[in-house]
Amino acid sequence: MTTTARAYAATSATEPLIATTIERRDVGPRDVLIDIAYSGVCHSDIHTVRGEWGPITYPQVVGHEIVGTVSEVGADVTRYAVGDRVGVGCMVNSCRECVNCLAGMENYCLKGNTQTYTSIDRDGTVTQGGYSTHVVVTEDFVLRVPESIPFEAAAPLLCAGITTYSPLAHWNAGPGTKVAVVGMGGLGHLAVKIAHAMGAEVTVLSQSLSKQDDGLRFGADHYYATSDATTFDTLANTFDLVVNTVSAPVDIQAYLSLLRLDGTIVNVGAPAEPLPVSVFALMGNRRSFAASGIGSISETQEMLDFCAEHNISPEIELIAAADINAAYERVLTSDVRYRFVIDASTI
Ligand code: NAP
Ligand code: ZN
Ligand code: ZN
Repeated sequence: MTTTARAYAATSATEPLIATTIERRDVGPRDVLIDIAYSGVCHSDIHTVRGEWGPITYPQVVGHEIVGTVSEVGADVTRYAVGDRVGVGCMVNSCRECVNCLAGMENYCLKGNTQTYTSIDRDGTVTQGGYSTHVVVTEDFVLRVPESIPFEAAAPLLCAGITTYSPLAHWNAGPGTKVAVVGMGGLGHLAVKIAHAMGAEVTVLSQSLSKQDDGLRFGADHYYATSDATTFDTLANTFDLVVNTVSAPVDIQAYLSLLRLDGTIVNVGAPAEPLPVSVFALMGNRRSFAASGIGSISETQEMLDFCAEHNISPEIELIAAADINAAYERVLTSDVRYRFVIDASTI
């Protein structure tokens, strides 16, 4: 039997999100039904509903930072039971056959993973995201949320947490490395906390110094304003790794100049526009320009456990669902401190 879920949906690229209902599929043999408790608000949700990454089919429910409680399991489910505290991130399935899936990196599925929203699901319907009261997900794409992480604060880890943890781990952030985080919003503030917990020396590069106290409290060792042109001279040839979380295009050459020999800038921010890179900026200091997309399911569980062990908890503003449109406007003006999370009981 399908489940009727309450939800907030976009009906066009320009209209505010509105309350509605959607049908969640029958709980299949390997599926779990999750009663959603909290849902984070990612800038990707905004890029998506406003059509910035290309046209989508409306109405569309977004949200891919989901935490909740299992309320029903299919007959063949082995990993979860009713009552478990679980999470769902940016993907809900993948082909499971390609070389990347077989290597355990479903986030890089060569056939394209099934995203939590806007993807065509195996039953042919368009996936609908987490701004909702219920979701049905195959158990292989469900995460266990450690008890020690406050439930509402855990939600942003499912996208912002894994998206920053994965490149920090891949490029070996740790003792003796210097990491810069560009942009201190949802992703950026978690990049600071995680890189600090990994033992790296962390520098925030924000548009202004208005959030400096917070940045230092989150574990940054240094904090600079990118609006101050001397910042780029002061920090030239300094970092092993620059993690760019900015949602808009930035002058990538300026950030490349901050990398020391063999340093890497990894873009996790995802503006629609291309970021032009000068070969000469790379050639000096043998620099690399990379990008990274979320993380695998096993790495997401590793990140959740890492955050529990290191007492890392996202900074959130809990909102009622009806406040979602105002929250979007605040994200767009970098006025988010540091992640909006929807209380699903208000949907
Ligand atoms: P967010 O909360 O809005 O944070 C972005 C931050 O970038 C802002 O807080 C601001 O930081 C800075 N910023 C914004 N506009 C800027 C501009 N015009 N110039 C310079 N800096 C600017 O967004 P988010 O949720 O963290 O997401 C960030 C980006 O990552 C989005 O593009 C999102 O789609 C993308 N994303 C990618 C993945 C992935 O898998 N790669 C996953 C999730 C999200 P300051 O105020 O400190 O300057
Ligand atoms: Zn996201
Ligand atoms: Zn695959």
